[in-house]
Amino acid sequence: MYINGQWCNSSDGETFESINPYTQQTWALIPQASNDDIDRAVQSASEAFYSRWKDFNGTERAKLMNNLADLLDENAQFLAEVETTDNGKVIRETKNQVHFAARGYRFFAGAANKIYGEVIPLDDRELFDYTLRTPLGVALLIISWNSPLSLISNKLAPAIAAGNTIIIKPSEHASASSLEFAKLVEKAGFPPGVINVVTGDGKVGKYLTEHPGIQKISFTGGAETGKRIAETAARNLVPTTLELGGKSPNIIFEDAEISKAVVGAVAGIFAATGQTCIAGSRLLVQKSIYSEFVEKVVEKSKSIKLGNPLDPETEMGPVANKQQFDKILTMIEKAKSDGAEVLCGGNRPQNEELQSGYFLNPTIFSNVKNDMQIACEEIFGPVLSIIPFKDVEEAIEIANDTKYGLAAGVWTTDFKKIHYLTNKLEAGTVWVNTYRTAAPNAPFGGIKNSGYGKERSLEAIKEFTYVKNIMINFSNEERDPFSIKV
Ligand code: NDP
Repeated sequence: MYINGQWCNSSDGETFESINPYTQQTWALIPQASNDDIDRAVQSASEAFYSRWKDFNGTERAKLMNNLADLLDENAQFLAEVETTDNGKVIRETKNQVHFAARGYRFFAGAANKIYGEVIPLDDRELFDYTLRTPLGVALLIISWNSPLSLISNKLAPAIAAGNTIIIKPSEHASASSLEFAKLVEKAGFPPGVINVVTGDGKVGKYLTEHPGIQKISFTGGAETGKRIAETAARNLVPTTLELGGKSPNIIFEDAEISKAVVGAVAGIFAATGQTCIAGSRLLVQKSIYSEFVEKVVEKSKSIKLGNPLDPETEMGPVANKQQFDKILTMIEKAKSDGAEVLCGGNRPQNEELQSGYFLNPTIFSNVKNDMQIACEEIFGPVLSIIPFKDVEEAIEIANDTKYGLAAGVWTTDFKKIHYLTNKLEAGTVWVNTYRTAAPNAPFGGIKNSGYGKERSLEAIKEFTYVKNIMINFSNEERDPFSIKV
């Protein structure tokens, strides 16, 4: 682990195995942090916040962040290989994600010396009032296993730009890339204690969230864990940002550019083996084009190339871990027994070379009702539910009839429809004629059970700062000390 600028094992020597989901073999031993390790990490982040990190102004913080961005670009292939080996996500995506993370650090490096307050013209001209955006202190970043480097960077870049110090807790299912990342943090020149990485299971996350030394929690993971963290944080009055799951609708209208919409529908769910929070897992198709469109989606899905995720030609890798694999298979069986019809997949592939990994065929269900488990619950796997709709109003009704609100996709060439729908859809991001696209300067984050708060864009700076108001009295007159002057 990386604590206070030093590399260490767990103080009690405990480790756990990290399993490669393509081979089901143990490929790394990761330290299981003890409570002593965690206390030390929080203390070092706290000391760094109140001493050495305070000496760095925005321009100096930006310099280190730009160093880190350059190192990420230089080491993208290696980091991607580590992450792909750990979680089975295809290398063509993990490599892009490292470069995307580098762009994020550069964007927030640019912001680091532009975190302005406001001057507020008070009625009383003898008082001068202004605000500062001030860092919160020690920020705890807890992330899930599906895209560790990307998820860390969404949080770390704004947090560090704003002057906080950091504890990162990756998932026990994919910790290796976070530790390799910490080597680059060290090389970039961040002072000891400013960025710490502790590894371990959910118990480590729990102990950290309860720790009195934490001033901010930013979490990416499941809704139930998110709620537990928010409850704990509320008891300590610690502000939280929660990036949780989704059950996002991808809506195809009869006037869409069909070939592009087919690609958007297929990539929207099967990229990353469906293991993304933004997966377009409910495909809503207008009845007038239903048969023609569904046939094309099934045909394209059947042609997806499964294989070794380290091969740049592979389009879909294995599911990331056994727990997730078993959960998806159980949900597939439940959908079948609920009356949904399998159009393709629903099982493991037969090819010899795919037997060692947690592979599932791209799976598509039709005859899905929006209240079936398959359409309500997040699966986090390569499973698509197709639901027909008659018109715009019905599409909106089905799309919003979910406890989640992370993303939505709309495919149409009608401008009036675009404006109408983007207003009505309940989601943190609405994509129109595209899906799964992102930019460091475009805000990201959900509503409802998908969480709250924003990542990326200048909005993210607000998540890691508080507004301090400063009021200065320039008047010569004696003020009545027993009566507030308004
Ligand atoms: P979990 O909620 O199970 O775990 C997330 C993180 O929390 C892990 O590091 C986990 O550790 C840790 N954790 C577990 N229990 C606790 C606890 N009691 N207190 C503190 N930390 C704890 O989610 P998954 O890792 O299974 O991730 C899948 C979920 O993440 C999906 O719902 C998905 O939609 C969501 N997600 C959301 C994204 C977004 O941006 N909105 C992006 C990516 C994923 P450990 O794993 O070691 O148990």
